[in-house]
Amino acid sequence: MEDINEKQKEVAETKVCPFCRKEISIEATKCPYCQSTLITDKNAKLILMSSLGLFLISFGAFIFFISIFSAVFGINVTQYVWWLIIPFALGFIWKKQKMGQQKKIESSPSLKKIPLLIWALILLVAPIVIVGVIFLGIVIMAPAPSNRNSAPVINTPAQQKGIQVTAIQLATDYEANEIAADTKYKDQIVEVTGTIKDISKDILGAPYIILSGDPNSITDVQCTFDKSKQNQLIPLTKDTKITLLGKVSRKLLNVRVDECSIIQ
Ligand SMILES: [Zn+2]
Repeated sequence: MEDINEKQKEVAETKVCPFCRKEISIEATKCPYCQSTLITDKNAKLILMSSLGLFLISFGAFIFFISIFSAVFGINVTQYVWWLIIPFALGFIWKKQKMGQQKKIESSPSLKKIPLLIWALILLVAPIVIVGVIFLGIVIMAPAPSNRNSAPVINTPAQQKGIQVTAIQLATDYEANEIAADTKYKDQIVEVTGTIKDISKDILGAPYIILSGDPNSITDVQCTFDKSKQNQLIPLTKDTKITLLGKVSRKLLNVRVDECSIIQ
């Protein structure tokens, strides 16, 4: 009788570690044999909070990394960062679910412990890979006129006469019929005259000027310059008239004119 009572008492005071199957104290929150963190009602909240903390730290580190990346390569990718919260959130949800699973099937030996360090690495590496893919996508899809040296002719604008057109006319033609406008202008050298609406840099760091199109439409003319010609844009001011020589590439939101140089 005494033996049975003692045995029952012993059973109630121990449990089996779901990771290494060793018998441990019922109140243990960490397995003394395999160092696994065990989820009990007592520490579940703590584990969740530490996961959340890890998630926030990783995300902060990631934002930091992206900022450095942007600064070093002169590419503004920060505008794409915010939706990358998705993989982080998915990782967090997964972690939470895994915890639920462990609780449900405490006795399952198939669950393996993922150390926090590995977790931090996963949280950091996955978004970096995603950013890399996005970055590659941007580089491949962009017309990338900035690095081409294939336009020496345009560097001597006096010798080259393009199609003379106003920015308003160019924008209006594209607005009216993109196919007709492409036939007329695409890949052609144009001498486009217009009023400067904006002077800025695109996501690849290429400087550009926006020439106002028809004030009644949203289409403007975006004239992109090689990075080496950036200095030409310094003395320019908005709302002044300018004539540029460049090659019409395509219409996205604006009509794009690439490989531009300033005539006057
Ligand atoms: Zn264990």
